[in-house]
Amino acid sequence: MTTGAGGYAEIVVDLPVGQPLTYRIGDPGEAVSPGACCVVQLGRREVAGLCVGRSEAAAVAEDRIRPVKRWLGEIAPLDAHWLAFSRFAAEYYQHPWGQVAVAALPPFLRTPPGPRWASSLKRLRGAIAAGPVRTPASAAAPELNAEQRTAVDAISSQEGFATVLLHGVTGSGKTEVYLTAIERLLARDPQAQALLLVPEIGLTPQLQARLHARFAGRSIVCLHSALPAAERSAAWLAAHEGRAPIVLGTRLAVFASLPRLRLLVVDEEHDTSYKAGDGVRYSARDLAVKRAQMLGVPVVLGSATPALESWAQAVQGRYRLLRLPRRATEAAQPQVEMIDLRQHKSASGLTEPLRTALEQTVARGEQALVFINRRGYAPVVACAACGWLSACPKCAVFAAFHKTDGALHCHHCGWHSRVPRACPTCGNQNLDAVGHGTQRLEETLAAALPGARILRIDRDSTRRRGAADAALAAVHAGDTDVLVGTQMIAKGHDFQRVSLVGVVNADAQLVSHDFRATERLFATVTEVAGRAGRSGLPSRVLVQTRYPEHPLFAALRRFDYEGFARGQLAEREAAGMPPFVPQALLTAQAKSLDAALAFVGHARALGRGLREPATLYDPVPMPLARLAGVFRAQMLVEAPRRGQLQAFLRDWLARLRERDAPAGPRVRWQIEVDPQEI
Ligand code: ADP
Ligand code: ZN
Ligand code: ZN
Repeated sequence: MTTGAGGYAEIVVDLPVGQPLTYRIGDPGEAVSPGACCVVQLGRREVAGLCVGRSEAAAVAEDRIRPVKRWLGEIAPLDAHWLAFSRFAAEYYQHPWGQVAVAALPPFLRTPPGPRWASSLKRLRGAIAAGPVRTPASAAAPELNAEQRTAVDAISSQEGFATVLLHGVTGSGKTEVYLTAIERLLARDPQAQALLLVPEIGLTPQLQARLHARFAGRSIVCLHSALPAAERSAAWLAAHEGRAPIVLGTRLAVFASLPRLRLLVVDEEHDTSYKAGDGVRYSARDLAVKRAQMLGVPVVLGSATPALESWAQAVQGRYRLLRLPRRATEAAQPQVEMIDLRQHKSASGLTEPLRTALEQTVARGEQALVFINRRGYAPVVACAACGWLSACPKCAVFAAFHKTDGALHCHHCGWHSRVPRACPTCGNQNLDAVGHGTQRLEETLAAALPGARILRIDRDSTRRRGAADAALAAVHAGDTDVLVGTQMIAKGHDFQRVSLVGVVNADAQLVSHDFRATERLFATVTEVAGRAGRSGLPSRVLVQTRYPEHPLFAALRRFDYEGFARGQLAEREAAGMPPFVPQALLTAQAKSLDAALAFVGHARALGRGLREPATLYDPVPMPLARLAGVFRAQMLVEAPRRGQLQAFLRDWLARLRERDAPAGPRVRWQIEVDPQEI
């Protein structure tokens, strides 16, 4: 043990090191506090570091301890709450603290500063300090209805921590509730900050416009991964320095530094994009709840179809349930009907009843929306002579045919190649495109509705920056009669003249191996149905299915989320599945399936005999067993209670990291806590 003048700093970095590293504080000594950002030397590299603690003594010999290379004193330290919160997230999701905390910092704090750092910092501050360029006339808020008022009052009068689950049908005025609650907060406490999380910002330009109009003159900053580095850094800094009272962001914004955070809102809290991405797979919704709890402030989760995890909490009384059962405007809910695919033949995706309804809608000068959750022209190309099917050479999936460029595309790894002129196996020149995606449906609709203006919106049609905005604007402007697309057209858009929604090919999700598929289908169809009749036009939703008697459709027809959730939760409880049993998923990737399975088997053996009772299931290939040339295996882990699962994972992963792989080929592995796809 040694002591040195000025003491030592415990530093975390964005690398897989288990414990914080010890550095000498050096200058400016006393001024340094936990939460301070810095640059440290690690081996030959200079990396971004974050101070998480100070000590007067070090456990390592003095001559082996390096000084911190540079303290970024120009940036105020992150506060104690933020450090504790990032630490919680790291422990919960079983990752080193630095890989959560430093990884959550904005681009300009993650790279060692160059010679012009001071001036670029000034520019970043200026970008937001100048205030938003747009200051439209302040939009008058509609007068809230009784249910909305009850909700706003409940949120605004909440002292301390509470989770409010705002269950409101689409168009019931949930957003209005969030905005009013934020407004009241800022009226009460002008220094306060609010965080509003949304699944995807690019798809909801309307919400941004609404916020800017409502809070004209105040800085509203956006935080999401698609922002250019400088904009994201400027936004982060404005939040960190308290200059932005409102932060609108996607999942990563849950880690924004907000020293005066008083209210958190998670819109569309069921959305799967809150738990996605590479690196640490955290649930931004769950973390928002935890962050609110640590701060002692309210958090609002809003949805028309809450995640069953959230619903179960509300049913058990841990979340406060508030309902908005009606649409806020005069508009009635659409009429939902099923079209039985066993009675009505579908020609290239379209049945006669749906075609007729489309025709009538267009003739009335109204708009229709046709939803299909598959892009491309056809999911596979087949040879009728020998049975050849177009497959991705690198993944265990079919390659889809895109007519726009005449190529086969793998939607998982991006591989693409021209469609062969003849069957590669038998030489047959008549290959068939089997099934349908957005492109084929677009073609079918054009043929079925001559003269109608058809617009396709999917990932392929909106690759160019601004393309999605332009396409959506065309719909709003009435330049489109029929809109065909994927999930992208289902989210939150307030289309005014849509009076018909067609859902094509919903069945794939009904027969999925994933136990959450039904829940997701219910949410998706509800969401897309919510686009219909928003301005008061009588409206219909037509769902083509082979299983019209499925209970899911009966519930959908009545907009009975609660009945649906009750049934699902009963099934989950009986089967011992989440949310009643916590899970984690170990995944491994290797050059061969055997190697991946062997590693998972090795991990399983290491887990035996640990003190906490956990169930380790059999190692199995992942549903997508080969991705981009890499083979993948997985194993599900369960324990009766969350605390037990956490304790088990901690001990087990420590062993696994120590005795990484048995001799043999290299294997990469990850652990995911609360996996959403199994
Ligand atoms: P949600 O977020 O639940 O989908 P929104 O808040 O976007 O609902 O409201 C849907 C529509 O209803 C919007 O056009 C909104 O301006 C309008 N609206 C919301 N609340 C009211 C109200 N109390 N009176 C009139 N219109 C309202
Ligand atoms: Zn063939
Ligand atoms: Zn592929």
